[in-house]
Amino acid sequence: MQSALIGVGQAGGKLVSALQAFDADENHGSVRHAVAINTASADLRPLPNTVQTLLVGQSRVSGHGVGGDNELGAQVMREDREEVLDTVTIDSATEAVFVVAGLGGGTGSGGAPVLVQELKRVYDVPVYAIGVLPGRDEGAMYQVNAGRSLKTLAREADSVLLVDNDSFRRAGDSLGSGYERINEAIARRLGLLLAAGEVDTGSDVAESVVDASELINTLRNGTLATIGYADASVARDAAENVNVVTSTTRRALLTGTAIEADSADAALVVVAGRPEAIPRKGVERARRWVEEETGCMQVRGGDFPVASEKLASLVLLSGIERTARVESFFERAREAASGSESESDASGSGSEPRESAADQWAVDEL
Ligand code: GDP
Repeated sequence: MQSALIGVGQAGGKLVSALQAFDADENHGSVRHAVAINTASADLRPLPNTVQTLLVGQSRVSGHGVGGDNELGAQVMREDREEVLDTVTIDSATEAVFVVAGLGGGTGSGGAPVLVQELKRVYDVPVYAIGVLPGRDEGAMYQVNAGRSLKTLAREADSVLLVDNDSFRRAGDSLGSGYERINEAIARRLGLLLAAGEVDTGSDVAESVVDASELINTLRNGTLATIGYADASVARDAAENVNVVTSTTRRALLTGTAIEADSADAALVVVAGRPEAIPRKGVERARRWVEEETGCMQVRGGDFPVASEKLASLVLLSGIERTARVESFFERAREAASGSESESDASGSGSEPRESAADQWAVDEL
């Protein structure tokens, strides 16, 4: 799928850079344009020059960032929207736009929903968000910011692909190296998904390819989505690869997404590998297994030829908003919001009247 990627804030910029690099290294050609927008010049400086950068909010924060204030992040994006829209290139060949942000911070948390709204106003192509949820051990401000940002994004974007940092974290990861690994893992799964929707359907290489419309239709079924991924070495014996495909698909769904799959509304299964190593029977069996496991009527499936010694399964789940994982995140955000509210009540320092926790979610309502 021919895509434009727009990262907002630090996590957004780094993720867009990782995605752009994956797409270029693998020669997929799905990323038409990659931009990183930030209020902090120090976060833009380390990005590779393959990603265009734009510093916003200079009149307000002089390039020093918004310091976790997502209301200010939203305000800056609103004020500088013309410059932002002038910078992003969404040409007639672009099939989808992805706005990428860490939801717990300030610039991305507040700015991404405003940007999605602006892009939807101007363009006809689907506008998706990729939102990074804060880890459980991150502070109350991150949880509150993410809760509000996600609520608004879910309303404005065509779909929000959730990235759960906790599900990628490994014991012993330092913060920096952990993020780098997580960003590469996300770039791989998302990059493969975009590239899978790219195969020339006129070629006879992939008989049951996934095209951009299947991706769009899968995402149309819900407001929140997630991607699971797993891979394994190709077996020598072709018959054995049927089992490899079903077992990687099982792992991609059950451990890769960390979501109770029975609450999803639609799914897409993509099996990637050398064409001769992908067993048609295995792909169909994997697709049917996902159908049974999720109970969805709409499970699309296909393969994607890549030159690799591995077979990989990618499972996109759409309509996950009622899953326990998502509900527990909102619960955490709600608790954090009421916690910070009672703290400010107790200290008597709150000079402005506070809204109730239930009213505190949408950034653009502030
Ligand atoms: P902003 O620059 O104000 O938008 O804030 P950040 O982008 O730093 O957002 C903070 C949130 O993003 C926190 O919840 C972090 O855990 C997460 N985060 C920061 N950097 C990265 C990164 O490189 N990768 C991932 N996956 N998450 C990140």
